[in-house]
Amino acid sequence: MPKPEVNHDLCIGCGTCESLCPNVFKMEGGKSHVVAEDCGDCDCQEAVDSCPVSAISIE
Ligand code: SF4
Repeated sequence: MPKPEVNHDLCIGCGTCESLCPNVFKMEGGKSHVVAEDCGDCDCQEAVDSCPVSAISIE
């Protein structure tokens, strides 16, 4: 299963990814953290495409 990654040097903590995939992304300390092993039942590609600073990649 594809696992997303967040580049914390780029993330500006806007929260968009968490609102799209709350089971995968959790905001903590002003940055998004990946808390799930894979995308599962949400559309992580949408989170990738919606991140304003292109901080999310999928392995
Ligand atoms: S959408 Fe991008 S910039 Fe916004 S919190 Fe998620 S990873 Fe960070």
